[in-house]
Amino acid sequence: MLLVSEPVLGAEEKSALSDVVESGWITMGPRVRAFEEAFAAAHGLPDCVAVSSCTAALHLILLAAGIGPGDEVLVPSLTFAATANSVLYVGAKPVFVDIESLDVPLISPARAEELCNERTKAVILVHYAGALADAAPWRALAERYGLLLVEDSAHAVGVEGPGTIGDAAAFSFYGNKNMTTGEGGVVTARDPALLERVRLMRGHGMTSGTFARLNSRTPHYDVTMLGFNYRMDELRAAVGLVQLGHLPAWNATRRAFGRLYRRLIANACPDVRVPFSDEHACSHHIMPAILPAGVDRDRVIERLRDAGIQTTIHYPPVHSLTLYRERPDIGPLPVTEEFASRELTLPLHPRMTPADVEHVVEVLAAALRDQGAHPPQT
Ligand SMILES: *Cc1c(COP(=O)(O)O)cnc(C)c1O
Repeated sequence: MLLVSEPVLGAEEKSALSDVVESGWITMGPRVRAFEEAFAAAHGLPDCVAVSSCTAALHLILLAAGIGPGDEVLVPSLTFAATANSVLYVGAKPVFVDIESLDVPLISPARAEELCNERTKAVILVHYAGALADAAPWRALAERYGLLLVEDSAHAVGVEGPGTIGDAAAFSFYGNKNMTTGEGGVVTARDPALLERVRLMRGHGMTSGTFARLNSRTPHYDVTMLGFNYRMDELRAAVGLVQLGHLPAWNATRRAFGRLYRRLIANACPDVRVPFSDEHACSHHIMPAILPAGVDRDRVIERLRDAGIQTTIHYPPVHSLTLYRERPDIGPLPVTEEFASRELTLPLHPRMTPADVEHVVEVLAAALRDQGAHPPQT
C-alpha cells in the first residue's frame, strides 16, 4: 500500500537510540538541550523548548500567556482537533474562523476581524499543508486588537518563518509529520520570559530538573507555578537530532513531488484543483487536492484504495465534530465546509518515487472518468 505519509527511520536512529541506552540517562538531559539548540538554529530562531507533543506545546503557550476563562481565541475549523482543544484546556472559548478560499485554505484575517470583540485575546494560525500564513495582515490585526498571535506550526517543520510571524509557535514531531520523534513537539516564543515560563511549566513548574540537580551541589528545588509533565526524553531527542539532519533533503523531495503532482494533475484531470496556486513558502507536509463539485469522493477513495493507494481527508471541520457541534454560536463556515467536502489528500512523503506520483494521478484521473465527467484535456 502506498501510504499518505510514512516516517523515514533507519540505522542512524537505531544507533542513536542505542547510544542513549548505553549512556544510562534516558529522560530529559543533554540530548534534549542539544536538540533544542539544533532545532532553533535550523529555523533561524534564538531558542526553543522541547515538549512531549505539539498539543502540549499549544496548551503551555496559551497558559503561559495567561489566556483563560472568559477569553475567546480565534481558530480555524480546517485543522486537527488539537488546535481548538488547547483553547478548551485553558478554559477559554474557541471561536471558529472560515478560510480565505478553496485556493488559500488558511484562516482568513478579514473573517477573523469580523469576530473580534473585547473578549478576544488570541488567535491560533495553522500553516495548513505547511504553507505559511501571511505575516503582515495578522500582525496588523494582532496589534489593533491586542491579540496574542500563536502559530500552530505542526505542518511547517523545516521552513523558515514559523516562530517569527507570531508571538509563539508550536511544532509537532508526531509519526506522520515531516520529521518525527514518535511523539514530540517544540515551543518557540519571541518573548524570552514567555519561553522561560513554558520551560518551567513543562516540568511541574520545578526550578531545577533531575539532571541539573545531579550536576549541582544541592538537591533543593522549588515549585513556583502549576506545571505539567510535558517533558521530552533523551530517546526522542536523539532520534530528533538524526531526523533534523535529514529534514532539508526530505523537504526538497516533498517540494519536487508537490510540483510533479501539480503538473500531472493539470494535464490528466484539469478539473481537480490543487490549493496554493501562488507560490507560498511551504514545507509540503501534505498533498491536498480539491475534487470537482458533485463527484462522489467515497467512490474515488475506494478506487484508489483498490489500486493500493491510501488517501485521507484534511480535515473533517472541527466545528462539525460531536465535541464542538453542540456548542453555542458554532458555524456556519461555508468555505471551510465546501473545502472539507471536496478535499482529498494524496500520498506525499520522501520514500515515494516519481513513478508513484504518476501512478496516483493516473488512477485518480481514471476514477474521475468513471464518474462520467471531466475528460482530460487533449
Ligand atoms: C498533528 C497536529 C497537531 C498535534 O500534534 P501532536 O504532536 O500530535 O500533539 C496539532 N495541530 C495540527 C495542525 C496537526 O497537524
